[in-house]
Amino acid sequence: MTDTLHIVGGGMAGSEAAWQAASAGIDVVIHEMRPQTGTFAHKTGDLAEMVCSNSFRSDDDEQNAVGLLHWEMRAAGSLIMDMADTHRLPAGGALAVDREAFSQGVTERLMRHPKIRREGSEITSLPEDGHWIFATGPLTSDALGQAIRAETGAEALAFFDAIAPIVHFDSIDLSKAWFQSRYDKGETEEERTAYLNCPMDRAQYEAFIDALLAAEKTAFHEGETAGYFDGCLPIEVMAERGRETLRHGPMKPVGLTNPHAPDIKAHAIVQLRRDNALGTLYNIVGFQTKMKYGAQADVFRMIPGLENARFARLGGIHRNTFLNSPTLLDAELRLRSKPHIRFAGQVTGVEGYVESSAMGLLAGRLAAAAIKGRSLPAVPATTATGALVTHITGGAEAKTFQPMNVNFGLFPPVEGLKGGRRGRRDRYKGYTDRAKADWTAWLGAEG
Ligand SMILES: Cc1cc2nc3c(=O)[nH]c(=O)nc-3n(C[C@H](O)[C@H](O)[C@H](O)COP(=O)(O)OP(=O)(O)OC[C@H]3O[C@@H](n4cnc5c(N)ncnc54)[C@H](O)[C@@H]3O)c2cc1C
Repeated sequence: MTDTLHIVGGGMAGSEAAWQAASAGIDVVIHEMRPQTGTFAHKTGDLAEMVCSNSFRSDDDEQNAVGLLHWEMRAAGSLIMDMADTHRLPAGGALAVDREAFSQGVTERLMRHPKIRREGSEITSLPEDGHWIFATGPLTSDALGQAIRAETGAEALAFFDAIAPIVHFDSIDLSKAWFQSRYDKGETEEERTAYLNCPMDRAQYEAFIDALLAAEKTAFHEGETAGYFDGCLPIEVMAERGRETLRHGPMKPVGLTNPHAPDIKAHAIVQLRRDNALGTLYNIVGFQTKMKYGAQADVFRMIPGLENARFARLGGIHRNTFLNSPTLLDAELRLRSKPHIRFAGQVTGVEGYVESSAMGLLAGRLAAAAIKGRSLPAVPATTATGALVTHITGGAEAKTFQPMNVNFGLFPPVEGLKGGRRGRRDRYKGYTDRAKADWTAWLGAEG
């Protein structure tokens, strides 16, 4: 076995992984299929092409989880962040970049590195030996997707996401919502209380349906739609099929008793299911949607109990190839059944340019250490990078796993800080201070 690291996919994650590994002295080959084989979203043959928006989102590293991820990546010598900073455009508190200059800059820096070589070929199978990182992204080629499915089983690789909105638990009004699973199902108390329920009377339900039908929707990108209707109908499409459809589907008011008003039968009930082991996040069951983000927040805050909901992420449906990482990957992003293969980027079930690059950064460092015969300490779950990798490789519910953005709901609480709206600024500062100290220590321990 040679000591060369092969990276499949030269997108955000693959480019960062290559940079990190080469900076650690490892020989790297990037296997990127573009421009010979394209995708419906990429337009060039450049590495790290931004397929849609030109924003890395908030750059606030004290009050925002993605800003904190920027900070951690910069501290780790990230090429993606270096090029984003070099080609920054004015955008208030957000980090927006000149997309062409950015990806050309990444490509040039990688190609100038004496340890990095690029091969232009589509990889269509999972190799039996060597050191590999697969970072083929949401638009992983069909042939490779089939090969991954053959290894993991059909249930463990999705080709579309169907994301229901995710709400911070501490923003749900428990004087209206209550814990109960339908028909009190479950062996343990924990299972019987895994759901939160929000009741609606007839007038509230009718107003909600009106708002759903009127809300502005996002169109699919060209080439994105084939096959998405299997089992993930957007709620607004269900509502279009008939005003009662939701009441017989995800909002059916059966098998549940409202302890706040046990004698009143609800007309409809919205259920939220626990989304992470920490119990800080809940997803709204069956509420995948193509409504625009602003409209979603307005419509979902009409649900009794969610009037002040803060959303860790809003819903969506996209073409998106991703693994059921909680069951397939270990904490070092290795495929459990073939540990010489790591996955990185959006295909691991994170979402977004920054999160994908961060998983590339981590995979590159872990692979480089392994090739050198070293092992790194686990990344602290109190850092943004650690919170994300902990979530995708074990913290998230495997059965309902959907891609995730970085957000403070993934972080373990900081002791002694107030919950709720009032303490939010202090709490976020507490998270980011702790993360910076722990990330700095982790980078130091790595040597
Ligand atoms: C239509 C669309 C719009 C999006 N808009 C946004 C947005 O606005 N903001 C945002 O943050 N995120 C957006 N995303 C998500 C975005 O794709 C990711 O955030 C980011 O690009 C993921 O990085 P990655 O490295 O995992 O994948 P990518 O950047 O997609 O890189 C994967 C690379 O692998 C290559 N590849 C695939 N299969 C093979 C193979 N078999 N052999 C060799 N090479 C292969 C591809 O050509 C590609 O270069 C969007 C995704 C899509 C599909």
